[in-house]
Amino acid sequence: MPLKIESFEDEYIDKIQRESIDDLNKFYEINWVHHLPVVIITKDRKTIDMLKGESSKRWMVGSAEGNKIFMLDRNALESESVHKYTPETYYTLLKHEVSHCFYRILSNGQMKPVWLCEGVAIYTSGQNKEKCPKLNIIS
Ligand SMILES: [Zn+2]
Repeated sequence: MPLKIESFEDEYIDKIQRESIDDLNKFYEINWVHHLPVVIITKDRKTIDMLKGESSKRWMVGSAEGNKIFMLDRNALESESVHKYTPETYYTLLKHEVSHCFYRILSNGQMKPVWLCEGVAIYTSGQNKEKCPKLNIIS
């Protein structure tokens, strides 16, 4: 089945992608300004699965493949995943995937060890604060 992909204007996605890249350039000490990750928004999980070539779990809403980021549309987040939509949550989900793109550069494409790759993505996106609110009081 072919996929039809079109570009579209979305100031919110542009803004959170730009903020993510700016912040991650500082964290990773990289000045990545050319050939930046391309965000591909999909209306449903089926499309992400087709792009990845495998079926995904309901908690998965995005994936970084090279410099391409496949993300579930924020309007489909609640119907297609286990996540509740808030602008902040969506920002952390996108930033997590952008962080993987940076890690790919540092790891020379190896994305290993997986625990470190995921841990850094969770930390740099702020998802550790979402899942462990008590940590916010300490830090
Ligand atoms: Zn991840």
